[in-house]
Amino acid sequence: MAGTALDVRPTEGALWLERYGARYHLYRVYDNEWWHFEYHPGGRRPARLPHPGCVAPASCRARAAGTAAADPVLTGRRNR
Ligand SMILES: [Zn+2]
Repeated sequence: MAGTALDVRPTEGALWLERYGARYHLYRVYDNEWWHFEYHPGGRRPARLPHPGCVAPASCRARAAGTAAADPVLTGRRNR
């Protein structure tokens, strides 16, 4: 996967970046990784995914909520 990513700590820094990162084309991209930001130039905010490796956000979110059948793509990557 091409791109630039950075992991930010402490929490206060990540919260700041989540609020103001768009100025620098830095966006939080995963629901479950508050520290992880990716550089996406071009002015378009990337879609937020439930977690890394998720290829079907609606399915991943439903599964995380315990309301969907297992997604074979994500076997072994459950967050419970
Ligand atoms: Zn990361």
